[in-house]
Amino acid sequence: MKEHPFEWISAYIDEELDPAERQRMDLHLAQCESCFDLVTELRDMKNEVAMHYERIEAPEGMEVRILQAVEAVERKPSTLTKAGSLSIPLIGLTVLVALSFFYGSILVKLITVAVKFMVTAAYVVSHVASSIPAVWVTALAIAIGISLLSGFSLRRILRSTTQ
Ligand SMILES: [Zn+2]
Repeated sequence: MKEHPFEWISAYIDEELDPAERQRMDLHLAQCESCFDLVTELRDMKNEVAMHYERIEAPEGMEVRILQAVEAVERKPSTLTKAGSLSIPLIGLTVLVALSFFYGSILVKLITVAVKFMVTAAYVVSHVASSIPAVWVTALAIAIGISLLSGFSLRRILRSTTQ
């Protein structure tokens, strides 16, 4: 073996060479100082790593503490969502106000038109059928439908103006 058998060194350290290969490696290491040093160094490193791994052990009760921490985190949002559910419409309103400032003319016109349309529709429907309760329900349904529709068109306009 004239060349340094670097490809065997790792297998040699891990004791994975067959006896013949191992013997040749021993022979080379007896003659080659640089390979001997390399093997010594790598073996030391390997032992050190193994030692560190043995030293690293999960402290007692760590699993329980992790589970408790997770539980605490899971419990917190339930109290937060109550405040959060209140703040969401507020945020929505703020965003709407801010947007109406940004896209003022379009949005204000649209809202005015939508409100006027809804009021007119409600007025007409209530006048046409004020005496029949069943039609009142229909009027309510129509009003809801109109407000939903205007909401949809609002969103579409907002989307197209923001893009
Ligand atoms: Zn060598």
